[in-house]
Amino acid sequence: MTDTTTTADTRAVSDVPLVRALNVSKAFYGNEVLKGIDLDVREGEVVCLLGPSGSGKTTFLRCINQLETIDGGRIWIDGDLMGYDDRNGQLHRLHDKRIAAQRRDIGMVFQRFNLFPHMTALQNVMEGPVQVKGQGKGESRAAALELLERVGLQEHCAHFPAQLSGGQQQRVAIARALAMKPKLMLFDEPTSALDPELVGEVLAVMRELAQDGMTMIVVTHEMSFARQVADRVVFMDAGVVVESGPPAEVINRPQHERTRAFLSRLH
Ligand code: ADP
Repeated sequence: MTDTTTTADTRAVSDVPLVRALNVSKAFYGNEVLKGIDLDVREGEVVCLLGPSGSGKTTFLRCINQLETIDGGRIWIDGDLMGYDDRNGQLHRLHDKRIAAQRRDIGMVFQRFNLFPHMTALQNVMEGPVQVKGQGKGESRAAALELLERVGLQEHCAHFPAQLSGGQQQRVAIARALAMKPKLMLFDEPTSALDPELVGEVLAVMRELAQDGMTMIVVTHEMSFARQVADRVVFMDAGVVVESGPPAEVINRPQHERTRAFLSRLH
């Protein structure tokens, strides 16, 4: 694949942290998977999370999106503390409805596309705004068609997932997440389940999204994407952030042995 865009250089990135994760910890049955993760992501910034399998990347994304509850630390999105109400330093768990509302601001795209198999591409994209936001069908349909056009699938709007390639399904999944007008998009290895020839079309859509100013956290092994699109890469291993910085530094001149070992295994 040839990539010539230099998205990270041309995009405006503001200084306001849209995401602030502070000392986030998470264990499963006594197995500490996240051991005090700190991460700030500014509005408009694209951060790629790299690291070996099992290092906690997916768990961290799931914590940001409240698919997992954290054991320690705090996460704010746009100044809003996730999952809790902080009253004079005392944390109180929010009601489910409030948590659901917080989660609506965050779009997530998974490795597997998770589309509703009995719905067309258009219906998949309309579903969230209609069912969750109570938006009118006409308005949702128009917005969904626009989004499908944006991901290059307007001609496929009446197709069911089984009639689409993996790359097309993943693009529908991106359009579906965008239909909720998220403040932040999380991508969890969005191309790793795809045949190699389909990876480029999904990365191209993500690159455009980045160019349009979307704030994104992307777990990926696609080094060319990280190099060209990320403002920052964060290397995780065994539940900690080992190092982070501009892709040219971390990928080309890693400071830590663990990062070097990981990168050398990719080539
Ligand atoms: P990565 O995304 O970097 O591959 P994960 O966050 O998926 O890492 O996994 C980190 C560790 O947490 C792994 O050891 C994994 O087995 C464990 N883990 C993840 N989810 C669960 C779960 N729901 N129950 C028990 N262990 C889990």
